[in-house]
Amino acid sequence: MADSSNNNDQTSRKVMLITGGSRGIGAATALMASRSGYDVSVNYTRDEEAALEVVAACRAEGASALAVRADVSDEGEVIDLYDQTEADLGPIDVVINNAGIISPIARFDTYSVDRIRQVFEVNVIGAMIVCREAVRRMSTSSGGIGGSIVNISSAASYLGSPNEFIDYAASKGAVDSLTIGLAKEVAEEGIRVNAIRPGLIDTEIHAAAGAPDRVERLAANIPMARGGSADEVAESILWMASDAASYVTGTLLNVSGGR
Ligand code: NAP
Repeated sequence: MADSSNNNDQTSRKVMLITGGSRGIGAATALMASRSGYDVSVNYTRDEEAALEVVAACRAEGASALAVRADVSDEGEVIDLYDQTEADLGPIDVVINNAGIISPIARFDTYSVDRIRQVFEVNVIGAMIVCREAVRRMSTSSGGIGGSIVNISSAASYLGSPNEFIDYAASKGAVDSLTIGLAKEVAEEGIRVNAIRPGLIDTEIHAAAGAPDRVERLAANIPMARGGSADEVAESILWMASDAASYVTGTLLNVSGGR
């Protein structure tokens, strides 16, 4: 754990755990959630400074917040992430399963097996470990208080990402199936499971694919003719997580400007 604090003694605030909360969509969600009455646990892997900046911004909104280092593909680290969050903030109401990596842009016939394994380790195995731990702790059938899981998939799951990163797209296809199956399995146990499928969103992830200008370059192919912002995705995540979506489960919501 990098840092923690209890800035408020309000018991009515809900608790949200966000994987990959130090940048991009996760960071925007943490900040918006803080304004909407959540205390937040901000997970990251490498960039502690960025995570601590998000935590400071959340506290400035009146939330209790902590930053926790954990690689979502490491089972032990995910268990510690949940334990530290519960110890500091109390039972978790909402999990945003957001941590994800992208692969470098390349033709499919050049992929190494290591590359494919790496993206599946984080985006699929990691997402499943995070969901499993959420269910173990939230399920009313094992004494939990119920809750809401929002998986962050991608428009890539239905576009397939040819000539870019088919392995990434397939990993998000797995996230969609995970969402549909798990939603049905735990529907009677107080847990809703949904997914958001963002389109081209302006974050640092595209630089990791080797194309920092990707959103700008592809904007003309989007029906709305522009990329989306992390805040626009966070708005939909917050709605999906909230009681306003109380009859919504197993749903995949595209936030993609019509793409
Ligand atoms: P981003 O700016 O690259 O941020 C990724 C976040 O995930 C960072 O906080 C990073 O932390 C964390 N992370 C990476 N690997 C991790 C791991 N193994 N364990 C824990 N945390 C890890 O990405 P983003 O654009 O906000 O994307 C967030 C999610 O939205 C991803 O699942 C992505 O696939 C999905 N998405 C994004 C877009 C888009 O256009 N941006 C579109 C569709 C879907 P560190 O920096 O500390 O490593």
